[in-house]
Amino acid sequence: MIRQYELVERVKAYDPNADEDALNSAYVFAMKAHGSQTRASGDPYFSHPLEVAGILTEMKLDTASIVTALLHDTVEDTHVSLDDIEKHFGKDVRKLVDGVTKLSMIKWESHQQEQAENFRKLVLAMSNDIRVLLIKLADRLHNMRTLHYLPSAEKRARKARETMEIYVPLAQRIGVHKMKDELEDLAFRELNPDARDSILARLKFLREEDEDSVNVITKDLKDLFENNGMEVKISGREKSPYSIWRKMRNKNVTFEQLSDIVAFRVVVNGVSECYQALGYLHGAYSVIPGRFKDYISTPKPNNYQSLHTTVIGPKGYRIEIQIRTKDMHEVNDYGVAAHWRYKQGGRVDEASSGYKWLRGLLDILENASDPEEFLENTKLEMFQDQVFCFTPKGDLISLPSGATPIDFAYAVHSAVGNHCVGAKINGRMVPLRTVLHNGDQVEITTSKAQTPSPTWERYAVTGKARSAIRRYIRTQKRHEFVALGQTILQKTFKAEKLVFDEATLTENLGKLGCKSIEDLYSILGEGQRTVSEIIRVLHPERLVSDKRTKTPEEWSDKKTHTEGKVSLKGLIPGMAVHYAGCCHPLPGDKIVGIVITGRGVTVHTEDCDTLQRYADEPDRWLDVGWSDESSVEDKYVTRLRITIYNKLGSLAALTTLIGKNGGNILNLKITHRTETFFDVIVDVEVTDISHLNNIIGALRSSSHISSVDRAKG
Ligand code: MN
Repeated sequence: MIRQYELVERVKAYDPNADEDALNSAYVFAMKAHGSQTRASGDPYFSHPLEVAGILTEMKLDTASIVTALLHDTVEDTHVSLDDIEKHFGKDVRKLVDGVTKLSMIKWESHQQEQAENFRKLVLAMSNDIRVLLIKLADRLHNMRTLHYLPSAEKRARKARETMEIYVPLAQRIGVHKMKDELEDLAFRELNPDARDSILARLKFLREEDEDSVNVITKDLKDLFENNGMEVKISGREKSPYSIWRKMRNKNVTFEQLSDIVAFRVVVNGVSECYQALGYLHGAYSVIPGRFKDYISTPKPNNYQSLHTTVIGPKGYRIEIQIRTKDMHEVNDYGVAAHWRYKQGGRVDEASSGYKWLRGLLDILENASDPEEFLENTKLEMFQDQVFCFTPKGDLISLPSGATPIDFAYAVHSAVGNHCVGAKINGRMVPLRTVLHNGDQVEITTSKAQTPSPTWERYAVTGKARSAIRRYIRTQKRHEFVALGQTILQKTFKAEKLVFDEATLTENLGKLGCKSIEDLYSILGEGQRTVSEIIRVLHPERLVSDKRTKTPEEWSDKKTHTEGKVSLKGLIPGMAVHYAGCCHPLPGDKIVGIVITGRGVTVHTEDCDTLQRYADEPDRWLDVGWSDESSVEDKYVTRLRITIYNKLGSLAALTTLIGKNGGNILNLKITHRTETFFDVIVDVEVTDISHLNNIIGALRSSSHISSVDRAKG
């Protein structure tokens, strides 16, 4: 185990301003919290967070990261709470520990292989601070180093697959190659030990048989550069067993000679020397075409920089050579971590090491240009706009942020969407409008009887859900209109003693301006045209007045007591209209029309509460106004809420006052009765708003009446 003072010294070696007290107290705090817990290896549990912290010191991370590494399992595995963490180590560390803990909660099932990419995005999206991801990677690295202690082969295999599918690619993406290589090798060792062993044996054999060649090549290269007056460092680096295996598997090749599996690295002092060195190499040996890559002028998205080339080298070997500066070399091993030290001129200063870490990653991501290498053209910012949720079976569904269970249901299947009645998030029933969060497990309940409701469209953010809901409603609406239109036409023909014959109608569709018989029914049902118009076209000899044919509203048996002559502007002639029962609009009121599926237009007062329901459906709104010619014979019903004093003669006074002012009471109901008051609802027939106001004024002036209000919404 790393001793307390050792850890502090390691950090101070690269960051002289490190917070020694914080490191010391985190060490003691975590050690106490884990107490006598042990690991599968038999070691005290505390050895694990300590090793994780050790790994992060190699990457020269800031104090907060090292402290978090020490504490990273305390919240999940001990009695320690996040509040305790904040109290002792501050908000920053709390956030980091919370982030690492949350990442540990999401479980990856190997059968979701095809969703590995989504899963990686989930991990990235949840690591809103890049340090969280680096700590998680170090945690995984130590767990992989000690994987062989786990007794369950099944568990070991699962961890190894998860490492290969999720953490190796993530390490690669943020450019921590050293970690990536080790994680990959440890996972490979678990998943395919035979392949790895045979590759290692082959490597050993080649190395022994061909012992000289690496030395010969190294010496030749060294001479070449020295003769040209360049000071360089040359090393031969064996490719990893896994990368050899992958190459052999994918390209169906075998490795024949050592130079195939050793890459030579030339490290020079400055950028211009890289190109100089390349020039000497290409001058001295034949170049294999198509293998030259300039990652200096165009760095990889994870900021990797180097020149790559392959030449036919000494002894006729094909050799791969990478040329880079010392700084680039660091970046390649430590990725973002080194990138930052490098930008700060080799020093980590406490003030800049926090948020700039994250900015650093974002910079790299934002400048990403290589779609192969990086997140399939996606920037990190883009999956900050996404949420990733699980089905009860553990499948991952990715949705735009702001998505609700309705979007989720449609993402699963349009039939699930169309019949969804409710949702459970993480086992708890929630309203369908609930916004989903990363990692939520969502269970949709369905019922055959359920159909999409127009209000759903407001809660859906995905195009798939919205268009499915709209399509359903459109079809449904048309279905209703067609049925209604057919009924109207049949009944009117019967009333007019005409023969109803679809064949004749079909022949005359052109004259009627319709494409199909269904179209004809639909526009009749919708009230866009009246039956009289149809009869006039088909039987010009007959005189049919509009007054004798009923509107779709009348036929649909959804009559209201306010129907009658329509005295509105802004309507399509023949359109079915009725006045809303909630607000009882009167001539003189400011009004709007709302198009209702299968019912034509409902007119509301502009301040009616019911309109809220249609706030997000501008398509339904119709600009209407009262016609100037509305006559005094037209009567409209309105509703009043009146509170009268509970005393003799009050009710009589009420009815008398209304009658005296020309109002006709259609309905009167006492809704609430106390010792002092009666609450009464009265439906009154009036001609317009000023008529109503006269009545209200008269009532308010009565000593029997406490208050009078028009009922709305
Ligand atoms: Mn851990």
